[in-house]
Amino acid sequence: MFEKILIANRGEIALRVVRACREMGVKSVAVHSTADADAMHVRMADEAICIGPPSSAQSYLSFPAIISACEITGAQAIHPGYGFLSENAAFVQALEDHGLTFIGPTAEHIRTMGDKITAKDTMKALGVPCVPGSDGGVPTLDDAKRIGDEIGYPVIIKATAGGGGRGMKVAQTAADMEKAFHSARAEGKAAFGNDEVYIEKYLTTPRHIEIQVFGDGKGNAVHLGERDCSLQRRHQKVLEEAPGPCITPELRARIGKVCADAVAKINYIGAGTIEFLFENDEFYFIEMNTRLQVEHPVTEAIFGVDLVREQLRVASGLPMSFTQDDLQINGHSIEVRINAEKLPNFAPCPGTITQYHAPGGLGVRMDSALYDGYRIPPYYDSLIGKLIVHGRDRPEALARLSRALGELIVDGVDTTVPLFHALLAEKAVQTGDYNIHWLEHWLEENL
Ligand code: ADP
Repeated sequence: MFEKILIANRGEIALRVVRACREMGVKSVAVHSTADADAMHVRMADEAICIGPPSSAQSYLSFPAIISACEITGAQAIHPGYGFLSENAAFVQALEDHGLTFIGPTAEHIRTMGDKITAKDTMKALGVPCVPGSDGGVPTLDDAKRIGDEIGYPVIIKATAGGGGRGMKVAQTAADMEKAFHSARAEGKAAFGNDEVYIEKYLTTPRHIEIQVFGDGKGNAVHLGERDCSLQRRHQKVLEEAPGPCITPELRARIGKVCADAVAKINYIGAGTIEFLFENDEFYFIEMNTRLQVEHPVTEAIFGVDLVREQLRVASGLPMSFTQDDLQINGHSIEVRINAEKLPNFAPCPGTITQYHAPGGLGVRMDSALYDGYRIPPYYDSLIGKLIVHGRDRPEALARLSRALGELIVDGVDTTVPLFHALLAEKAVQTGDYNIHWLEHWLEENL
């Protein structure tokens, strides 16, 4: 096992990694921008080092700053968290060149899965079912129109380099194609420097179901069931749960095996998530994320495992601490993402926290880097906490979530907490009967 690792991230996820390190007896190094000098991850880690000014490009995304921080502190490995450098193949390559270990998959796997067209081709070849669509990239508008007619409208045009819900445009009919095609390309170019797009059938009533996989890099891999992340706003997750309310043990076993076998075959190492749309009892692959996800705690809750600990184990060359047979689901878990945002427009709302009180009690986990008097800087994303509950079944988890949200105090800034109080009162949320479009409609009608 490593003696010391560096955490190339901030906020709740940096703290999450510090916690795993502490329990494993691994020393942790926090890095921070000047805007984060007072941040909780800086206080909690064993050492901290300033790596630059507020702008992410000059701090949390700076290869030289982070690699120098490793050299100065003697850290042997880097945990990237999510976002920032977590899916940057060039960074992983740079670490290798410096004799440092990346706690995550290889540069090659990150590159393959980071390009959605290559990812889809790879998964198809590995026997994973995909959304029907174009065979690879679609270079011209004429091609796009032809493919649209072939697969039938509505279709979605997606930037191959897209992420975070950006670079996707829906064409409801052939008449929308020209505008959708050009704007998906322009968004891909502007946000990711790549204007290649592909086309998929636009599914009208799917749920978002993702499978957590974990590999040891030596051809062994397991799955840790699914998470249902169907409550979305602008293609971004708002609430996640495990197990999925409409996934039977048979469906789980079937798709779980397909996913575990696929990643075993490519010698995948570490945590990964294979995302699907699920409609009429069929799974359709959309993308793979080669990192720890924001919503990983719901999986940890129902399986009773620490995914960050496992990441450190396999990265250091140790085997995983569980086999597929060891992994049994216990109860139900739900996570809500608490953002510093002002409703109804979800405008980022940085500011000073005048009072913070985390909920507690049986089955409640609050992953947050907030504290009384903390100033949320305006430079980074607006996630300020994740409230995760665990119950014996879904109704118990929902009741616990409602109770815990009631205990939570975050004063001084607007947050998305009122949204969750309102959602929990909805019949569709109580029964779990919704698809990925439900929340958008609900927001239009209720906010
Ligand atoms: P990103 O990388 O930006 O997260 P994804 O490919 O994972 O993009 O898609 C994000 C979300 O966009 C999905 O969860 C779903 O809500 C929607 N989406 C993507 N592809 C389709 C599709 N073919 N049909 C309907 N919705 C889709």
